[in-house]
Amino acid sequence: MEIYPVKGTHDIVENDAELYRSIEETCMAVAHFYGYKEIRTPIIEHTNLFVRGVGESSDIVNKEMYTFLDKGERSITLRPELTAGVMRSIVSNKLYVNADLPLKYYYVGPCFRYERPQAGRYRQFHQFGIEAIGSPSYYLDAETIAMGYRIASILSSSKEGENSPYKLKVYVNSLGDEDSRANYKEALKKYFAKHIKNMCGDCKRRYEINPLRILDCKVEEDQAIIKDAPKMSDYLSEDSKLYLNNVISLLKELGIEATIDDGLVRGLDYYTGVVFEYHLLDEDGKSIIGALGGGGHYARLLKEIGGPDLEGIGLAFGIERLAYLIKTIHPVDEEKIYGPDFYLFGLNEEAIEENFKISDLLRVRTLSTEVCYEVKSPKSAIKTALRRGAYCAILVGEDELAKKQVTIKNLTTQEQTSVAISDLGDVASDIIAKRYVDVEGE
Ligand code: AMP
Repeated sequence: MEIYPVKGTHDIVENDAELYRSIEETCMAVAHFYGYKEIRTPIIEHTNLFVRGVGESSDIVNKEMYTFLDKGERSITLRPELTAGVMRSIVSNKLYVNADLPLKYYYVGPCFRYERPQAGRYRQFHQFGIEAIGSPSYYLDAETIAMGYRIASILSSSKEGENSPYKLKVYVNSLGDEDSRANYKEALKKYFAKHIKNMCGDCKRRYEINPLRILDCKVEEDQAIIKDAPKMSDYLSEDSKLYLNNVISLLKELGIEATIDDGLVRGLDYYTGVVFEYHLLDEDGKSIIGALGGGGHYARLLKEIGGPDLEGIGLAFGIERLAYLIKTIHPVDEEKIYGPDFYLFGLNEEAIEENFKISDLLRVRTLSTEVCYEVKSPKSAIKTALRRGAYCAILVGEDELAKKQVTIKNLTTQEQTSVAISDLGDVASDIIAKRYVDVEGE
């Protein structure tokens, strides 16, 4: 009986795995430029971390968590996001004691949400994110938003540049300070009181616990009602407005145009103040795969889970969505396999034994090398090397063995040369060094 993958999960193999790794490496490299250090937290946490952290009124906690009792009857949850776990880790390890603030951590890893699978939406997906804790400055908010923008633009940059039909966009909003938010929630309650009986079951629940969450509702009939709901901007205190405008002005100084989106509230309860999202828009200005990433300021999260009263700001990208972005902007030949620098073939058994040793000589020079352990004819050797995407095929037969040589065939330039085995390391290194110079110089 065939066993299928669990619904909403996906295997990431070969070229896709390479793509995911390169996205993660880019994200991590940028994080290093901004002074972030890595943090790795467990995939499983106590359920009440998310109930307290992400919030009881959020869809994530209410409907989407993978929660189970372990053998010791403890309620355990597969993390639906990483911010709460990072905060828990900061508290558990007292990372704030004698630390220079802000603490700055980046993470990458899988998350789990029981959502309806669709394009760009999985039940197991991967996030890269950052958290900066302990500095209430709007400069840090602007820096965080700019950093995310840099990541998305590095990944989406195309050689066609200006001519690309796609546009990267960052939307911002403010959820205000406590007073602004309380007044806004009150206004929402008043507005929705007239409509709630006609809205979905989730909205009825949201209305009781946190009416702000109604704005996240995806049900079409409810959208018409939500459209005319009061806007947060009308309830923002002067301080909150000024803070948001300062962030927008600072981004402008870096050449980043942030657009205010009044309806942007984010689906997690811990956000306060500035929130933001990154989208890739098509020619018609439509977001092509939902938010690539997003984040915001959180004033009380660390305190909520037992830590000191320090504010934070964070962002998270979905790796799957970044991969989609790259594939959309740079459609690659899916057939193209990125193979080894060298593929070694023996034209007889003796040559295979020689190749086994030669491969080591190349690999210790960090040249990627594969060996074929079956005797091949020169023609079928070249065919195999091409199919596997090798840069060069190395052939060893009777003649080569007698002369202590190999034949190298560059499969791109078609150049063929004989090289003494004693010189092979240097020659092979030169070929590959030149390969990358040529590519960069294109
Ligand atoms: P959130 O933690 O909800 O703020 O989400 C941050 C980012 O994670 C989103 O912008 C998406 O790129 C990604 N993301 C969230 N949920 C999913 C999902 N179910 N499948 C794939 N990516 C997701």
